[in-house]
Amino acid sequence: MKYAKLKNGNIEILNCEKPALNSKGAIIKVLGCGLCGSDLVKIKHANKENEDKIVLGHEVVGIIEEINSDISDYKKGDIVALGHHYPCFNCEFCKNKSYSMCRTFKQSNIFPAGFAQYIRVDDNHLKYTVYKMNTNLKNDEMAFLEPLSCCIRAIERAGFKYKEDNSKHSALVIGLGSIGLLMMKALKAFGVNAYGYDISQARQELAKNHGFSFIENKKYDTVFLTAGHSKTIETALKYVIDGGKIIVFSSIEDDFKGFSNNEIYYRELSIISSYSPAPSDIKLSAEFLNENKVNVKNLSTHYKLDNLASAVDDSFKNKIFKAYIEI
Ligand SMILES: [Zn+2]
Ligand SMILES: [Zn+2]
Repeated sequence: MKYAKLKNGNIEILNCEKPALNSKGAIIKVLGCGLCGSDLVKIKHANKENEDKIVLGHEVVGIIEEINSDISDYKKGDIVALGHHYPCFNCEFCKNKSYSMCRTFKQSNIFPAGFAQYIRVDDNHLKYTVYKMNTNLKNDEMAFLEPLSCCIRAIERAGFKYKEDNSKHSALVIGLGSIGLLMMKALKAFGVNAYGYDISQARQELAKNHGFSFIENKKYDTVFLTAGHSKTIETALKYVIDGGKIIVFSSIEDDFKGFSNNEIYYRELSIISSYSPAPSDIKLSAEFLNENKVNVKNLSTHYKLDNLASAVDDSFKNKIFKAYIEI
């Protein structure tokens, strides 16, 4: 079968043995996989020492091909989407609800990669991260399960609870790429008044087409940073209310020295980060997509697996909004 692998810094489509089901779990025939911003970061920072360990692709949609599990929810032929990591629920990190810091979380993964014709998932994936998807959705819509779950976690870490009245709150999302747009849609599903800002006029326009605007002379109680550039921090400090929250949701490339101590102190700001999703976030993400509470239609540009390198290139050049790789 074919799968994608980094070799000497290049994306290559190689052949390998189809994974075998030698313990409990499932083999999933991959239908497609979204290209995530974190895949792009990994590709950019790949070197000879680390590239063998890099797993490309995790926003998988597929069909269960073979299953050996005591979990009766799934059968051969089910269309599923999934998250790739699960925590142990037992360690100090898990007890502290820092599920993505759990060592089991960091070590668990799909095999061999999301950009592959077949993957193996284990029983804990089936238990905690795999969801049957509403077949009214297109495959590229189902592939938003994992990225949407990351947004849900960030919103929860900001203190919002789903189904509570959040209508007094206004949040600003800075950086309106696909994850920024997804964050605004998820905030809306939580009942938070969501606004978005981007230095790119085209992205601001696109957000507007989805019903999200930016109000210049307004302050926001919560600000989400989704752009991956330290310049956004100035913007966040400008628009957040005194006593407000800034949610750090992306890595940055430049050598930014940090938030100003006194700005945080005298304005009593909370700086909160959110990394990856917990199983409960994936569950809510499945509900949002399957019950059409978050609409992700027509956001993705499709590529074939053999053209993954072009999808990566087009994403780096901002030529497209979100790449979905058909397998
Ligand atoms: Zn992702
Ligand atoms: Zn743990």
